[in-house]
Amino acid sequence: MQTLELFPPGRALPCVQAGPDLYFSESPRELELAKQLCRPCPLRTRCLEGAKERGEPWGVWGGEVFVDGRPVPFKRSRGRPRKHPLPPLPAELPAAQAEAC
Ligand code: SF4
Repeated sequence: MQTLELFPPGRALPCVQAGPDLYFSESPRELELAKQLCRPCPLRTRCLEGAKERGEPWGVWGGEVFVDGRPVPFKRSRGRPRKHPLPPLPAELPAAQAEAC
């Protein structure tokens, strides 16, 4: 296979080293770690293109998380989403609170 010839012999790809449990994890945190491991991979662009062409249903490919055949910015945790979103964080603490910190 041509893509495998691009990687130095004797050196395993990051996904091979880490294993499928990480790259196909249900945990968003572990998937983010897998994405980071992909960053230096010399096959990243081809891996991502191939996953898009195949419509990979899930997992991390080419440094992206796939859900239902397409890359998404991040995978949500299992469970029902919040009915009411959390209020936004304040941009700055009021002066009195900032001095107390
Ligand atoms: S880019 Fe593809 S081949 Fe490279 S480590 Fe990530 S999943 Fe493996």
